[in-house]
Amino acid sequence: MVERFEVALNTPAGRLTTAIDVPTGFIPITAIVPVTRRLGEEASQLEVQRVIAAGQTISCRMGCAACCRMLVPLSAPEAFALREYVGQLPTDRRTLLLNRLGDTKDRVKREGLWDRLNDVAEAARPVPDEQLDPLNRAYYALRIPCPYLENEMCSIYEARPAACRELLVTSPAELCQDLVQNPVTPLPVSMRISSILGLVWGSLTNSPPRLIPLPIALEWAERHEEESRRTWPGSSLLDQVLDNMWRFLSQAFTNRRRASGKEP
Ligand code: SF4
Repeated sequence: MVERFEVALNTPAGRLTTAIDVPTGFIPITAIVPVTRRLGEEASQLEVQRVIAAGQTISCRMGCAACCRMLVPLSAPEAFALREYVGQLPTDRRTLLLNRLGDTKDRVKREGLWDRLNDVAEAARPVPDEQLDPLNRAYYALRIPCPYLENEMCSIYEARPAACRELLVTSPAELCQDLVQNPVTPLPVSMRISSILGLVWGSLTNSPPRLIPLPIALEWAERHEEESRRTWPGSSLLDQVLDNMWRFLSQAFTNRRRASGKEP
């Protein structure tokens, strides 16, 4: 049985209204991941429409995967959802992916970054940006293709992390060949879904809101598999997701007013 909720969110790019079906019983955290990502994508679509109406274009196209060399952060619920997704793939697909993940692990270990990725994922308190930035830069400098990338296309498209869905640019595509040195213009993101899911998970489990680097996400989810079996009422999970979205949106409105000089 599912219960339908009519959701309305005011975003800086317009009003988002949509219906969401949530199971009435107890559900694991992974069950709320798809709908949370969908809300993020609908908010992102409003931003796309806003910039197109302003005469800009989105440069991202199928087959362009320049950004798939970055260190992608996942929330714990997304890491669990990814493990579930990979677990239900046909054996040959799963084996292929696991082999590629193994190759990535070997390479990242050789470069001395593997333990640092694990330290971020297992940190007892949120890792500050000053600590994350050098790690992100060191990883990106290696230009390691994402283990889920095949022929410059995402092989887990429907299960890809929220952070991958949120990165769209209006600057020329060729600038994405070096996302650190070049003046790339990303589409504004008013609600970071991985952060929102991370906050929800943190409050449900009394743990710090953690971000898990994609290359280690399956291993992390396996280590924490016990936690992923817990369940909560579906409506209560949705409430927590929406509460955090409102907080992010409120901050996004403030940020944009400040950026436009309408607020100190
Ligand atoms: S998960 Fe897919 S979209 Fe995200 S970085 Fe990997 S290949 Fe690219």
